[in-house]
Amino acid sequence: MRVLLKLSGELLAGRRPPIDWEAFSFYAGEIAAAAREAEIAVVVGGGNILRGAHTPIPATGHVMGMLATVINALALRDALRDRGQEVLLCSSFPIPGVADAVDQWRAGEALSRGAVVVLAGGTGLPFVTTDTAAVLRALALGAELVLKGSKVDGVYTGDPGKDPDAVLIPQISHADYLARGLRVLDPAAVQIAAEHGLPIVVFRADREGALVAALEGRTGSRIG
Ligand code: UDP
Repeated sequence: MRVLLKLSGELLAGRRPPIDWEAFSFYAGEIAAAAREAEIAVVVGGGNILRGAHTPIPATGHVMGMLATVINALALRDALRDRGQEVLLCSSFPIPGVADAVDQWRAGEALSRGAVVVLAGGTGLPFVTTDTAAVLRALALGAELVLKGSKVDGVYTGDPGKDPDAVLIPQISHADYLARGLRVLDPAAVQIAAEHGLPIVVFRADREGALVAALEGRTGSRIG
């Protein structure tokens, strides 16, 4: 089984934002454990450092946001190596000498031999998010499932941080997710996943064993 994990910057910020080395080490452990059960590619967010939408010139801000994902990806690569996990880092936003451009055949080959592939730089284009990058990369790499790590347990009827009556939805179709205006995952990403019948599991990622549990369908909410 091949899966695409999306890890947001918010998770990687842990308790010491913007970059919590302990959080990187924790997620590297989770990923290395899951990599014994499935082929795993990881798209990292950058929201712990910067989001482009609210910067004075968003076209530049989004590029800064994509560079932020490269910073996170470098830290995650090293944390995975520290655990003895083979890893390939590639970026839609290549930086010579630091991060090679994404080559989906090379990435596919690395996944097939058990390496974790860390994908930096989002889509490489401004005005979208790394959720959209995760869905596009999953499709390009032939992943069966997108796992979206979150700080909440899954998809709720409302924002559980603001609405005390919000309840967890264990399973929802892509169309219903979009029709109800839910936001735990960028709707643009869900729209693309819907067009290709790609399922997404949203799960709370900051507990030990959560990633393997999500992979095995024992936790989280399923979209699609
Ligand atoms: N970004 C972008 N294009 C992409 C992916 C990301 O322009 O394909 C920018 C965008 O400004 C975004 C920022 O990078 O706000 C960080 O990514 P994101 O907000 O998705 O990170 P997360 O919320 O998952 O940490």
